Amino acid sequence: MILRQFTCRALITSQLYARIKRQQHFKEMAQPSSDLAAFRKIFSEANSIAIITGAGVSAESGVPTFRGEGGYWRKWQAQQLATPEAFSRNPSRVWEFYHYRREVMRTKDPNPAHLAIAKCEERLSKQGRTVTIITQNIDELHHRAGSKNILEIHGSLFQTRCMSCGHEAANYKSPICAALEGKGAPDPKTDDAEIPVQYLPRCEQTGCHGLLRPAVVWFGETLDSDILTRAEQVLDSCDLCLVVGTSSVVYPAAMFAPQVAARGVPVAEFNMENTPATQRFKFHFHGPCGTTLPPALECHESEPSNTGGLYLPIIRVLNMSSVEKN
Ligand SMILES: [Zn+2]
Repeated sequence: MILRQFTCRALITSQLYARIKRQQHFKEMAQPSSDLAAFRKIFSEANSIAIITGAGVSAESGVPTFRGEGGYWRKWQAQQLATPEAFSRNPSRVWEFYHYRREVMRTKDPNPAHLAIAKCEERLSKQGRTVTIITQNIDELHHRAGSKNILEIHGSLFQTRCMSCGHEAANYKSPICAALEGKGAPDPKTDDAEIPVQYLPRCEQTGCHGLLRPAVVWFGETLDSDILTRAEQVLDSCDLCLVVGTSSVVYPAAMFAPQVAARGVPVAEFNMENTPATQRFKFHFHGPCGTTLPPALECHESEPSNTGGLYLPIIRVLNMSSVEKN
């Protein structure tokens, strides 16, 4: 018994030692850089930029996530309400939760990180360069900031899907239905509204009247395969990738940037803290992304100040040649 314990402990100790050595080695070999000028040079030469964004970007606009410490709506966290099972058990409660989240968004605005990304997309598109946002956020703040090229891999608070006919539609009504008016208060003492299912949001397709649900990806559900395919195409072809405000622990988004890095493409992380993937990336910029992102994405000295149509072919050729050289 003692021998077994010892052997076991020795094994664990040697495994632990090997792991620490590997981590040390990895740290020495692959400490990401926070050299903004070096990032900016690569940024200025990139033709196809993928920007993966997560909850951290929304958090800087004050959008609650209902996750982690203190992240509750009434007595529940998102993972208890954002599931197909919770919806089938208690559609009224789940709709109250989403109604509250939709109404909260009326008081929130895009922050400097959203705006920097949107301005960058607009400016670079005039130079024949593309910026694509792949976001886990469902709050549409990227849209509101003016971004166009957005893949919302977890759906949107402002889209509904019919449980009967499958029809999806944008829906910005406030309240989304009369019965939810004034409901959805987050206070833990609030009683459930217990709205009969026929008074919850219903499909308006002719002859359907099915129950609507928020068109967001719930826990335990798979991502829309078309959107996932498009995201993979962007990630496979990008020559620069930014990971902004995401902890890199939610799959499959957590796989995206490490996959890009594995292909030898520079990845820059902008986050409040190191993440499990930080060591795999070329750059890490620490701090609120509303502070770190705007100077990183502003107009580079090598960009033309006026990118009218006349410049387009020349810029394209220049950029292509710089990519081939690398
Ligand atoms: Zn329907």
